[in-house]
Amino acid sequence: MTDDQFMPGNDWGLIRLAIFFGGLGLFLLLELIAPYRPASVSKLSRWLINLGLAVFNTLALRLIFASAIVQTAVQVSHQRLGLLNMHPLPHWARILVTIIFLDFILYVWHLLNHEMPLMWRFHRVHHCDLNMDASTATRFHLGELAISAVIKIGLIFFLGADVWGVVWFEILVVFTAQFQHSSLKVPAWFEKIYWVLFVPPAMHRIHHSVVIKERNTNYGTIFSVWDWMLGTMLTRVDQGGIKIGVGAYPDARKLGLGQLLIMPFTRPAP
Ligand SMILES: [Zn+2]
Repeated sequence: MTDDQFMPGNDWGLIRLAIFFGGLGLFLLLELIAPYRPASVSKLSRWLINLGLAVFNTLALRLIFASAIVQTAVQVSHQRLGLLNMHPLPHWARILVTIIFLDFILYVWHLLNHEMPLMWRFHRVHHCDLNMDASTATRFHLGELAISAVIKIGLIFFLGADVWGVVWFEILVVFTAQFQHSSLKVPAWFEKIYWVLFVPPAMHRIHHSVVIKERNTNYGTIFSVWDWMLGTMLTRVDQGGIKIGVGAYPDARKLGLGQLLIMPFTRPAP
């Protein structure tokens, strides 16, 4: 069977979920074995909140959208819609262009989440985590995920995204997001090399700083090249001194699941 004949169908939502929770379990375990630094707030209560949010989002939307995104790509391929279907390109090139294009869009989308006050209301739910570990990668408000999924579906049509490109992109996003949020002790030499093309935990730790000037940098998810090219990369920060979170939300007791769900509709906070 060639991969052209095999199309990911409705099972994709479940496969993605298995990859998501499999990766999460792996990173959370590695963090317990080799933590980057000791936790300043209870890990268990943060896990309950972040994983609670992940379960809530999955039940509400994620499963539907994860399938809808790949189903859109299947339809686009069948009907030969979009830019990539206008020119004959080898399959590997269509996969690569799809991954690179979607990652660039994710970079722009992430930047807008910081620069547009309305979007920041949602995105601050992710940033107000007081420690950072793989569970932070699951901490998103439903509203942010829903809007980004609708935009992604529109862009898959526009690009004529390759189905396998979309599948690989989704898998890479899950693993790279879990890795860059992880509180894992990674050898400095490895981070340095990895940083040239990708996003190591040190780069993303700067993005989760309470210092707004540091937070509004390092937007990349899979590739670091967008930040290098477009002037949003920040590297020279004392890693040990980085305080994680959002200045307006220093109190873990006020960051329960219910408070996170209504946060976008409460007073704005820088
Ligand atoms: Zn952010």
